[in-house]
Amino acid sequence: MRWQAAELVADRFETPSARTLILRVPGWPGHRAGQHLDVRLTAPDGYHAERSYSLAAPADGDRIELTVQRVADGEVSGYLVDGLPVGAQIEVRGPVGGWFVWTPEMDGPAVLIAGGSGIVPLAAMLRARRKSGDTNPFRLIYSVRTPDELYYRDELREWRDAGVEVFLAYTRTAPAGEARAAARLAADEIATRALPPAPDVTCYVCGPTPFVEFAANALVAAGHDPAMIRTERFGPTGK
Ligand SMILES: Cc1cc2nc3c(=O)[nH]c(=O)nc-3n(C[C@H](O)[C@H](O)[C@H](O)COP(=O)(O)OP(=O)(O)OC[C@H]3O[C@@H](n4cnc5c(N)ncnc54)[C@H](O)[C@@H]3O)c2cc1C
Repeated sequence: MRWQAAELVADRFETPSARTLILRVPGWPGHRAGQHLDVRLTAPDGYHAERSYSLAAPADGDRIELTVQRVADGEVSGYLVDGLPVGAQIEVRGPVGGWFVWTPEMDGPAVLIAGGSGIVPLAAMLRARRKSGDTNPFRLIYSVRTPDELYYRDELREWRDAGVEVFLAYTRTAPAGEARAAARLAADEIATRALPPAPDVTCYVCGPTPFVEFAANALVAAGHDPAMIRTERFGPTGK
């Protein structure tokens, strides 16, 4: 894989601290939902910083989408969220990853569990499902700290309309009128909100490492086959 130039052609803020970057990458080879890429930033003195970011949307010619969460004191995320102007170029290399992927050809039910920005590759799967017209049962369990930090708010409704059962677990502040009080996602909530275990149910879990381990263990305890649980851990990368 080689580094390719990527131009920021448009953007939007999903939350005050998360920005979606729409990049044009001439010659982009395409990708599957769930894959990620590497981003490389180069300072005027030649210093490089590289980080991984999930592809947030299905392949669309030479356009790709990322959603980057600003991390406190983050070297790369801070610049991608607050500094990179539309029209600027960065470098990308990818797509990367062949296991944490969903394609319509898999033709089976799926459970998606996201912690915070871990929703990004799962959104790519949900968008790909909608685009393909796939009608297999899907369940999304999305743990988010506050309503202000909810990504892809409008699309959540569209995914629901397309038959996805969505369970939002607010961990710090719940919106007014929410029946569930703010609390960490519990193992029994995962057990009851996920699809029942079955040989054809694939589970995808993405987020910070402790969240991923907790959710994957909860799925196993609920009877899901570990071989059907695919995980993606978001950092810290240590790069
Ligand atoms: C496969 C993969 C896909 C990823 N996809 C996405 C994505 O779609 N969107 C996204 O926003 N991020 C994603 N990440 C995380 C991303 O690669 C960076 O780790 C993140 O943006 C922080 O980089 P930074 O340079 O800003 O922080 P750094 O300068 O590396 O670190 C600053 C501080 O933040 C801590 N830190 C680093 N990473 C994280 C993190 N992820 N969460 C909390 N604290 C952290 C560090 O320990 C350090 O204390 C992904 C990571 C992987 C491995």
